[in-house]
Amino acid sequence: MASAPVRVRFCPSPTGNPHVGLVRTALFNWAFARHNKGTLVFRIEDTDAARDSEESYDQLLDSMRWLGFDWDEGPEVGGPHAPYRQSQRMDLYKDVAQKLLDAGRAYYCYCSTEELDARRDAARAAGKPSGYDGHCRELTAEQKQAYETEGRKPIVRFRMPDETITFTDLVRGDITYEPENVPDYGIVRANGAPLYTLVNPVDDALMEITHVLRGEDLLSSTPRQIALYAALADLGIAKQTPLFGHLPYVMGEGNKKLSKRDPQASLNLYRERGFLPEGLLNYLSLLGWSLAADRDIFSIDEMVAAFDIADVQPNPARFDLKKCESINGDHIRMLDPKDFAARCEPWLKAPVAPWAPEDFDEAKWAAIAPHAQTRLKVLSEITDNVDFLFLPEPAVDEASWTKAMKEGSDALLRTAREKLESADWTSPESLKEAVLAAGEAHGLKLGKAQAPVRVAVTGRTVGLPLFESLEILGKDKALTRIDAALAKLAA
Ligand code: GLU
Ligand code: ZN
Repeated sequence: MASAPVRVRFCPSPTGNPHVGLVRTALFNWAFARHNKGTLVFRIEDTDAARDSEESYDQLLDSMRWLGFDWDEGPEVGGPHAPYRQSQRMDLYKDVAQKLLDAGRAYYCYCSTEELDARRDAARAAGKPSGYDGHCRELTAEQKQAYETEGRKPIVRFRMPDETITFTDLVRGDITYEPENVPDYGIVRANGAPLYTLVNPVDDALMEITHVLRGEDLLSSTPRQIALYAALADLGIAKQTPLFGHLPYVMGEGNKKLSKRDPQASLNLYRERGFLPEGLLNYLSLLGWSLAADRDIFSIDEMVAAFDIADVQPNPARFDLKKCESINGDHIRMLDPKDFAARCEPWLKAPVAPWAPEDFDEAKWAAIAPHAQTRLKVLSEITDNVDFLFLPEPAVDEASWTKAMKEGSDALLRTAREKLESADWTSPESLKEAVLAAGEAHGLKLGKAQAPVRVAVTGRTVGLPLFESLEILGKDKALTRIDAALAKLAA
């Protein structure tokens, strides 16, 4: 247990749609902060003016709110280390870069890309480490002057100490980097723009971050950042080096790393399909962590109560859409019925719903909603499941029609219609008996007998419980639809 109060950060770059890997990182930081009664800092790493847009920034904040995350410092809430958008902190980074240069912890590097490439290729061919070779480490004043006269614009490079760097990763244990594998690296571009390599650790230092929990893809930057921290500490800028924990990769289809560009990775996709934030977060928490061996379904509060970074597994986690949907379905079942109905609303209204707004019937919706709540995996499925109630005619799915309407279906439908005619339409049980009896008359079990009835009335082979659906639709409409199906079969 850390003795100092926990301060963690979530610091995405606002480029495009947030992806699920980013959400998992946000979730683990948030849960860690809340579990430890610590502080979550939300920082926007928008130093790449070419890629970061105001629209992406707005999307990012909207996504965080939708997921239900709150933060103690950051955009909209402020805090002692404001501003929390890196684009508004440029002077700070320039100042730190200058201090590093003045102290000899960083230096100007005049090498051109072509020169760097040529020397790297040569080193590779000779079987030597191929990173930056330290060419500009000890330039004399005359050499610098000569480069300046040529019109070269230098980058600023951080001077790595020539020593082994070891740290204890909170997820992976001890990790060691030898100096030849961590060469001096650029921290400011030739045009004066500070790079991620500088601004991220500088802000972690200034914002007094105690734990850095982030994706495994950033592991190789950690030895560099640890060395930079040491320099910042010597300059009185950093108080302490944070502890690091690298969260496992998330693998997608074909066991490939889920990338930002994967459509399956986009958070918006899950929102549009009607995942509940609580279902999605429950599933994402299982990517590298678990509450208990036999517990897949839990609330966010249960996760917070139990979350320990030491329990995170380093091996890659597989994103399993089926499991994600199934967990989401369980969370749909756990909703208060009123809440469920309210959350379905966007799918029951224009522009999503295919029926005319005036054909929507509140009473029918109230009657069918409880049946839908027991079935759905994602909320967007509601539209197809209830459209038979609000469309003037069922939206017949041709594949369903062909599958259900076999040889003899017309005879069965005629018998079913007859029995349904005299059934009690206030009782699903009576409607079931009617279809059961029709089936028996034709030597068919209930499942086979109800398929043509279902397609005639709802347009689909799968859907909500049939007899309840019939009751809610009402006798007149249901029988008219069976007649229409019979006419279609006869044609
Ligand atoms: N802005 C960085 C990213 O999104 C943050 C990396 C980090 O957590 O250190 O990759
Ligand atoms: Zn150089």
